[in-house]
Amino acid sequence: MASNDFVLGLKCRVCGKLYPKGAHFFCADDSGPLEVAYDYEKIKPHVSRAKFQSRPKNMWRYRELLPLDGEPTVGPQVGGTPLIRADRLADALGVERLWIKNDAVNFPTLSFKDRVVSVALSKARELGMRMVGCASTGNLANSVAALSASAGLEATILVPADLERVKILGTAVYGAKVVKVSGTYDQVNRLCTQIVMEYGWGFVNVNLRPFYAEGSKTVGFEIAEDLGWRFPQHVVCPMAGGALIGKIHKGFTELSTLGLVDQPVTTKMYGAQAAGCNPIADCVKSNRERHKPVRTPNTICKSLAIGDPADGYFAAKLIRETGGWAEDVTDAEIVEGMQLLAKTEGVFAETAGGTTLAVAKKLIESGRIPRHEEIVICITGNGLKTQDAVFDALDEPAVIKPALADFKELVGLGERVAEPALV
Ligand SMILES: *Cc1c(COP(=O)(O)O)cnc(C)c1O
Ligand SMILES: [Zn+2]
Repeated sequence: MASNDFVLGLKCRVCGKLYPKGAHFFCADDSGPLEVAYDYEKIKPHVSRAKFQSRPKNMWRYRELLPLDGEPTVGPQVGGTPLIRADRLADALGVERLWIKNDAVNFPTLSFKDRVVSVALSKARELGMRMVGCASTGNLANSVAALSASAGLEATILVPADLERVKILGTAVYGAKVVKVSGTYDQVNRLCTQIVMEYGWGFVNVNLRPFYAEGSKTVGFEIAEDLGWRFPQHVVCPMAGGALIGKIHKGFTELSTLGLVDQPVTTKMYGAQAAGCNPIADCVKSNRERHKPVRTPNTICKSLAIGDPADGYFAAKLIRETGGWAEDVTDAEIVEGMQLLAKTEGVFAETAGGTTLAVAKKLIESGRIPRHEEIVICITGNGLKTQDAVFDALDEPAVIKPALADFKELVGLGERVAEPALV
């Protein structure tokens, strides 16, 4: 069933003016960002819990709430990642009920960006575009490269020159044209806007941004469905451009509006950033209405290093309105967070995951998040992409000769414990 009729158009987030569906991304009157607007009354008779659950477990089971005119043609298997009950991590943090939403195993490029890119590129094809691209801090580059390759689209991807080697490799391997720009992400992004204006290409986070951002709602849909069609009391989410945190909440709101969850949304949203690039967290903590851009981001968490976030204002506003909070953590805390998650839950997250976990820990310890309430932590990317961040924190393994005596000496006789089967 095409959701064609369900989309009213693109609505300015500042003045509310409605624009037709297309590759527009800002309001002609006030330059405000545009967002997809739906006709929920029209959608209501077409959706139910049973209908969603009867479909394959991926993000497209919620297709009536995504802005395509037809079936998805790019990334039809994206999403449907596990929500893990994290009891060992809960013990370590001293809380009662904790879950990890694990998008570190999203298909195909191991970050939540596959969700937004599959929507944006499916839309690019509906609009007849053949040339696509993005400005990226890494994961978006990987995802646009892989998914455009699978769809036969030609991709041009611009990244800050200091990006991790693995993230550049994981882009170039798909045959995308990668351009390193000697500058910050914000400078890369400005250049991409100029390229879009000049060439009319489909840049997923520039002129396709209204469609792109909608893909993140599916993180919220999946969390609610996997909790048994309920909302958690607290969600901790990493912030770069600030879109994901808002869209998880928008996803909850839509489920409530459509009666698929029969409770109002009272979830408190918490934003996580690195201390070396914390414009949104700083905005919340210092009680400013608008963020102060960070001119020269400096952190190991490059995936979140956006100094002047496009949705910063809206993210800070949402955090305040829901009664949540934001925090930032040092690079050392980020590495500790990555290790804690790996050691307690067997999940190797990238630096953004370490940031989110470390922020959650800080918010719990400071009493901002109560210890006896339900908490979901969003893990959005895979640790295999940011190995350098933890390399120095780990001990070199011992080397022995292939002899049992050497092994015994290493393990220490006093500590030897036999498994029950041998005793
Ligand atoms: C892009 C990204 C984010 C943040 O997404 P925004 O919507 O830009 O705030 C979080 N985690 C990872 C791993 C990312 O790549
Ligand atoms: Zn406007």
